Amino acid sequence: MAAQETVDHKYVYDFSEGNKDLKELLGGKGANLAEMTNLGLPVPPGFTITTEACQAYLATGQEPDGLAGQIEAHLEALERAMGKRLGDPQDPLLVSVRSGAKFSMPGMMETVLNVGLNDQSVVGLSAQAGQNDRFAWDSYRRLIQMFGKTVCEVPGEEFEHALDEAKNAKGTHNDLDLDADDLRGLVDAYKKIFLKHTGREFPQQPREQLDLAIRAVFESWNAERAVLYRRQERIPADLGTAVNVVTMVFGNLGPDSGTGVAFTRDPGSGAQGIYGDYLANAQGEDVVAGIRNTVPLQELERLDKSSYDELLGIMARLEEHYKDLCDIEFTIERGKLWMLQTRVGKRTAAAAFVIAGQLVDEGLIDLDEALHRVNGAQLAQLMFPRFQLDHEFQPVAKGIGASPGAASGTVVFTSARAVELAAEGESVILVRRETNPDDLNGMIAAQGILTSRGGKTSHAAVVARGMGKTCVSGADEIEVNVPAKRFTVAGRTVNEGDVVSIDGTTGKVYLGEVPVMPSEVVQYFEGSLDPEHIDNALVRAVHRIMTHADGKRRLAVRTNADTGADAARARRFGAEGIGLCRTEHMFLGDRRELVERLILARAADEREAALDALLPLQRADFEEIFREMDGLPVTVRLIDPPLHEFLPPLEQLAVNVAVAQERGEDVAKEEALLAAVRRMHEENPMLGLRGVRLGLVIPGLFAMQVRAIAEAAVSCARNGGVAKPEIMVPLVGAVQELETVRAEAEKIIAEVVGDSGVEVLIGTMIEVPRAALTAGQIAEAAEFFSFGTNDLTQMGWGFSRDDVEGAFFWRYLELGIFGISPFESIDRDGVGRLVRIAAEEGRAARPGLKLGICGEHGGDPDSVHFFHEVGLDYVSCSPFRVPVARLEAGRAVVESGGSDSR
Ligand code: ADP
Ligand code: MG
Ligand code: MG
Repeated sequence: MAAQETVDHKYVYDFSEGNKDLKELLGGKGANLAEMTNLGLPVPPGFTITTEACQAYLATGQEPDGLAGQIEAHLEALERAMGKRLGDPQDPLLVSVRSGAKFSMPGMMETVLNVGLNDQSVVGLSAQAGQNDRFAWDSYRRLIQMFGKTVCEVPGEEFEHALDEAKNAKGTHNDLDLDADDLRGLVDAYKKIFLKHTGREFPQQPREQLDLAIRAVFESWNAERAVLYRRQERIPADLGTAVNVVTMVFGNLGPDSGTGVAFTRDPGSGAQGIYGDYLANAQGEDVVAGIRNTVPLQELERLDKSSYDELLGIMARLEEHYKDLCDIEFTIERGKLWMLQTRVGKRTAAAAFVIAGQLVDEGLIDLDEALHRVNGAQLAQLMFPRFQLDHEFQPVAKGIGASPGAASGTVVFTSARAVELAAEGESVILVRRETNPDDLNGMIAAQGILTSRGGKTSHAAVVARGMGKTCVSGADEIEVNVPAKRFTVAGRTVNEGDVVSIDGTTGKVYLGEVPVMPSEVVQYFEGSLDPEHIDNALVRAVHRIMTHADGKRRLAVRTNADTGADAARARRFGAEGIGLCRTEHMFLGDRRELVERLILARAADEREAALDALLPLQRADFEEIFREMDGLPVTVRLIDPPLHEFLPPLEQLAVNVAVAQERGEDVAKEEALLAAVRRMHEENPMLGLRGVRLGLVIPGLFAMQVRAIAEAAVSCARNGGVAKPEIMVPLVGAVQELETVRAEAEKIIAEVVGDSGVEVLIGTMIEVPRAALTAGQIAEAAEFFSFGTNDLTQMGWGFSRDDVEGAFFWRYLELGIFGISPFESIDRDGVGRLVRIAAEEGRAARPGLKLGICGEHGGDPDSVHFFHEVGLDYVSCSPFRVPVARLEAGRAVVESGGSDSR
């Protein structure tokens, strides 16, 4: 096929030609088979067809020029090496055809074993195996089954069914009881199934089998499930898959043969030791398919000591080579060990920390590398409560772990019922087929959410993650019947009012109340578990890696806290100050009445009286916070939300007034209030009279707050403490706004502070796009900037979070318009660019300008890396996220290749 004069592009690599770093080209499986080959490990010879060949095939619908010839050449080399020919009737070479992309991907074609068998070579195979007819026919029926299912889309159940029938006829459940004749009969049955579904005979030409299998692997890249998976996992659609052609080795040759899988350490806990399963007299997938009971790998020592010892040696070698936990697949053919796969193994969050710590102890990696191997998402996972480890509940269904945590509660099927029961103090689990925006209130009220449909980007999943609520989505074994208020699962009926438990990390669903336990990692951060003195590998590893991250990071980590209690907690979690203390809650509760007076005041003296009454209350608020944050900076944001939020809702007020009037009561006061509320009503309150605009419109309001802050700081200093207040003006869009506030504030501060030594900084939030774009001007009047990335995202995109997250974000995520909600992780290209511009231009105008971020992005791993890159001084996040931010700030330094240390 290849034109002779063109030099062929290389599409096929022998295992000896590749290595582990060629995953992009050879796929993970192929790259690692090559790596093991070159390490001198016993890998059956074979070759890999590259992802480029797949890409070319998918682009044109046919094999690229040169591919067929290269496959032929490599096949011939393989035949020479093995001294056999593919499908030879006397002594056939058999191969497996295995898919393997850069990332392992469910939904793609798996593997066809025993390619090269046909009606003739099955006889030769038997003869070569010492007249082992049973083995030969078992191998042949497997080929037809796998080839039929994966290459020709014959429904797998049909083969399963025929196999079951054969066993039934024999009165057994064990496939090993089927003898050669039974298996020969099964091959006939399988061929009929094949013919029925494909309209053709099972292909007898070995080379045709091979080519069809290779093509099927290419095409499986675009199988629906694979496409869906890639979209969800953000795997690029154009990578393509490689195809591995591997000489068959046989684990089904008798009791001295077998196949197994193993991990070099426990992928669940990270504990050292041998974890694996072995199945004698079996081929390939039998181990994981659960057709027979496997034995623990340790048993192999008794069955075949020399293979066992060799395997352990290889596992140690692989760990040392990959410097990480590896998982492997192997087969033993008549006492000879073969390695069929290895890769760096997946692990739980806990195991990730424990293993990283162990590998440092073992001298395989350094602490920088350990830091690189864990991440904030894993740490966050470890900070959720979870179900007790030794509970004896069996899951009744398994969905997608859509939002982590562990929750149990009473089953409800409607949002309204969820709200009702939650109001009575009950913990509820909202169960729906899928959720939609109407379920929002129920989702807020529920402890957890369980749906029978939808993936990681379904409405339920997206909204639950946004709320930090436990959610299992897509538990499709569950049949939800909302009108009947029940669901059925595994033959059982669960009615409204019954209790279920869901694990948002594993996706498992249990009937009944599974006991929940607090996170040890949180206990450690809170100081109630001392890592030096307890025998807890996880806590020790977390401690060690966190300490290293703290030593590495350049970003400081502050917290968003509005109360002394939050501040104290965050400080235990490692916060180095408060980046955002909101003051609005200080105007609620029994202070509402004062605020009403302030808002309704018609004369200056009424207003001043209200402010005078608020001043000491505010001062006390700040004193408490300064005390808890003694010695650390505290950024206080002047009041931000629209005033009507402090007044009763319009409708309710209107009804009250109408009713009172009806009764002939004196409603002068209520009427005034109603008029004020009407006056203040805004169509778009988020874009209305709020933030600095309030301060400029309501005389004395900001002044009162500034005075309270300064007085609290002075009183703190008088009591021997150190208060470092930073006054932050919200929603500034023009330097003139800030200058006006600043002029007034400076006067008050000078007057209050006197010679107390207290220093008060004045700065602004950068949360309006115009502020970011005029940062050079604004910096002239600001000693610090704090990026309010929530508002900056809202105003940058032009949508309000409350309105859009439930309404259409799921759709945007599904369509890939967002990779992730821009409220969850900073939109680097747009909103992030505003941050970058403001940081650069602000610093240019005022070197030494302090820069921080106080939006929720401050606790998001990827965003923390971005803020590190942009050169901010600190991130500020909710107390619970402080450890995540510390870890990621350290990782950001390691990953940018810096040895940047404070
Ligand atoms: P998956 O990625 O689904 O594990 P694999 O390609 O690894 O698919 O193959 C499935 C099973 O077949 C595995 O147990 C593997 O070890 C086994 N297998 C693959 N190739 C061979 C071979 N050449 N000889 C024997 N067993 C094989
Ligand atoms: Mg495998
Ligand atoms: Mg804001």
